[in-house]
This record gives sequence, C-alpha cells and structure tokens, in this order.
Amino acid sequence: MDDRSILWPYERGEPGDFYYARYAHPTVAEAEARLGALDGGDAVLFPSGTGAATAVVLTFLKPGDTIGLAEGTYFGTGKLFEALAPWGLRFVEFDQTGPPPADVQLLWLEAPSNPFLTMPDLDAALAHQAPVLVDSTVATPLELRPLELGADYALHSATKYLGGHHDVLLGAVVCRDSAAAAALRRTRTLTGISPAAEPAWLLLRSLRTLEVRVHRQAASAAIVAERLRAHPKVAVVRYPGFGGLLSFDVADGEAARRVEGATRVVLNATSLGGIESSIESRHRWEGARCPEGLLRLSIGLEDPDEIWADLAQALDKT
Ligand code: PLP
Repeated sequence: MDDRSILWPYERGEPGDFYYARYAHPTVAEAEARLGALDGGDAVLFPSGTGAATAVVLTFLKPGDTIGLAEGTYFGTGKLFEALAPWGLRFVEFDQTGPPPADVQLLWLEAPSNPFLTMPDLDAALAHQAPVLVDSTVATPLELRPLELGADYALHSATKYLGGHHDVLLGAVVCRDSAAAAALRRTRTLTGISPAAEPAWLLLRSLRTLEVRVHRQAASAAIVAERLRAHPKVAVVRYPGFGGLLSFDVADGEAARRVEGATRVVLNATSLGGIESSIESRHRWEGARCPEGLLRLSIGLEDPDEIWADLAQALDKT
C-alpha cells in the first residue's frame, strides 16, 4: 500500500493535487489512469458498480427523465432505478438487439447482458439522440471498447473481471468526454460516493494479470459451453462466443438447485469474473423474468477438464 493517508499537507500554504481523500487520492488516480487507458477514455472510480450507476443518474439526469434500459441486464440495475423513482427517475425496458424507444434521455445497454448474454445493437442505439452507456462489465475492455465504437460511457463493476479475485468491490465509469468525467467527480465528492484507497490498490494489482486471466477464462468457457450443448440434460446454452460468462437451462427450478448444490470445484456463490468458477440459480434473485432452470456459470482459472468433470457429476444428480 503506497499511501493510506486521507490527507496531505498543503504545499506552501495551498492545497496541492491531493489534500483530502474524498476529493482525490493518488492510488485511486493511478487506478483511474490505468482503467482510462484500457477503455480509451477518462475513468472515474466508485466504491462499487452500483455506486457508479447511481452517480451517472445523479449527474446526467433530472427528475422526469427516462432511461431506456436494455431488458435482461444485471438485475440490480433495474432495482436501483426503481428505488430512485421517488426522485422522479423513470425507465422503460427494451430489447437491446433492436432499436431503442424514442422518448428517453439516456440509453443503458449491457454487453453482453448478465445473465442472458445478449449483445446490443450498438448502431441502432447510436442512431438515437440520447447519450449511450454500455455496461461492459462482462466483456471487459479486452473484448469490447464501447467508447471507440461511439458510446459516451462505459460502465464496469470492477468487482468482477477487473478485480478478478473476489476481494475487491469497486466500479468505474469511463467517459469519452473529460467534462463528463469532471461532472462525475464533482458528484462523487459532493455525495461522498468515493472509493477507498485499499481496493484501488488491489485493483491495480489485478489489472497486471487481467489479460492472462480473461484469455484463459474465455478459452475454458468455450470448451465448457460446447460440452454443455452436447449434454442431454441441458436444454439451452447462452454463450456469446467470447468471455468467461455463460448461462444454461436445466429442466426446472428443482433441477437447477440440485446442480448448484452438487458442485464441488465450482463455488455455489453469487458474483462472477473471479479466478474461482462460480455457479448459481438466478431465479432465486430475479423471479419471473428468469427461467426457473437457468444457471449462471462464471468460469475461473481451474483446468477446464476439472470444471467439466465437476459439472458433469452435478448434472448427473438431476
Ligand atoms: N453491472 C453488472 C453487469 C453486474 O454484473 C453487476 C453486479 O453483479 C453490477 C453492474 C453491479 O456491480 P457491483 O456489485 O460492483 O455494485
């Protein structure tokens, strides 16, 4: 840890670049510089992906505005927008593989969506007048750089692949426009949604291995997806052909619970993107919008044959 301090003495009687950690911290600034370089923009770090989403809403929208939210995206995003309804926030869901609704002030896409793994029609979204945000948590900047394709904001739950070790809770918004990043930093300081230095330091550690981790996870995920597709007890496999996240359906909710309860190598846990594989039934969280038999599987760094043997013995229990 370089610097745990939350204050820095004034220089010749005046505040320097760093003076109080709610405004800025050198370790946070370094992590932002690295993230910004990865996505090709100006990155602003937050204490979680959800904190980043909250800051976007508070900064760029006003009461009465409506977000066009891609359906089937991370469940918590819609829940956050619902919770902000008393402050005048509205949202409408739409199928991100097609054109977005007309009268919205921000388009919120997810590439690929979690846990349905759809990819947005980015051209259709960019033809809309509203700014476009792409939550590219699952793709990571290695697979997708939304700003280069014309999006205004890339959002990450850095808790997932960027942090990658199940020991960091962080989020980031990477902006094409530095004025937008400055506005987010202002919100961050005013509201206190400021990241701590230690997770930022852990993130810097993790970014050093991002490429090897994600490439290995993607290679293993492709193998596991292919084997799942050939398995008689698996009805549907959703895998976009890249990255380490997939989902698949078994017969029903009971079968899904039996599979997740029977794995020994793959953790039965929520979250994704870590070095350990994890699986869970998403119906428990998402209810009616999610098939009862859907299992979300995040592939880690274990040997793909070991992951497959574990899944195969768990599927045998259904
Ligand atoms: N975006 C996506 C795609 C996610 O999967 C998640 C969490 O699962 C979030 C955002 C929210 O991130 P956090 O848990 O860091 O607040």
